[in-house]
Amino acid sequence: MARTVIVTGGGTGIGRAITAAFAESGDSVIITGRRREPIEAAAAEEGAGVRAAVCDGTDPEQVGAFADGLPERVDVLVNCAGGNTDYDREQARDLATLAANWRANMDANLVTAVLMTEAVRDRLTGGGSVISIGSIAADKGSGPYGVAKAALASWNVYESGRLGPRGVTANVVAPGYIDDTEFFRDGLSEERREQLIGMTRTGRAGTPDEVAATVHFLASGSARQITAQVLAVNGGAHPTR
Ligand code: NDP
Repeated sequence: MARTVIVTGGGTGIGRAITAAFAESGDSVIITGRRREPIEAAAAEEGAGVRAAVCDGTDPEQVGAFADGLPERVDVLVNCAGGNTDYDREQARDLATLAANWRANMDANLVTAVLMTEAVRDRLTGGGSVISIGSIAADKGSGPYGVAKAALASWNVYESGRLGPRGVTANVVAPGYIDDTEFFRDGLSEERREQLIGMTRTGRAGTPDEVAATVHFLASGSARQITAQVLAVNGGAHPTR
């Protein structure tokens, strides 16, 4: 039977690959993002099984209105929306800028997942799954973005306790360096790229499809005993290697 799957940030990068993976298995996929163009383009490419909805996941009103329009039953929620709002690592010395930067990262990477999961909770059914996209940055002590992703992993453990009695699993998939996404396309020097690849055991960046395959597995009937976990897809990368 076709499942109903929500993928936040489903129009680009890793989310786009996750959308394709679920569409390929015949599921009905609803994707969100703040910009209309990428999600509508993705929906048009995938065909009738994928629907686009503009929704800023940091805005409670928009998330509530989005959830009100959902079918009664949702099987899978993938919290993929996120990003590093402090990419250039220029720590602001101005306190107002610093506060805004920390809040923006927590909003983008944690609050989006918390709000959408809460809004969808009553529609999640036995055998369902919530999968949130974390990051290797959570283990690196790497400023607001990494701290927000670490908070996401901690929230996931809490959330798994709330969802467990409903027969719903909750896991984090934590990618390492994934090539060819908007996340890294702008501003990553060749030197930094080589450094990131040098941290892996596999000698290469990961792909969005590899992350998508892991998410798809965690949402499958074969993964019902896996919950409250962080599953890394990072080529064995370690920040100190
Ligand atoms: P992208 O920038 O392509 O994906 C981010 C997506 O999230 C976009 O589609 C964006 O759409 C959406 N988004 C961002 N903020 C919001 C919001 N407030 N509400 C709704 N949608 C939002 O990069 P990636 O594919 O790389 O990133 C996907 C996830 O993977 C992120 O959570 C990222 O932190 C994580 N990640 C990526 C890694 C990488 O190497 N690429 C490594 C580790 C983790 P829009 O701008 O239209 O809102």
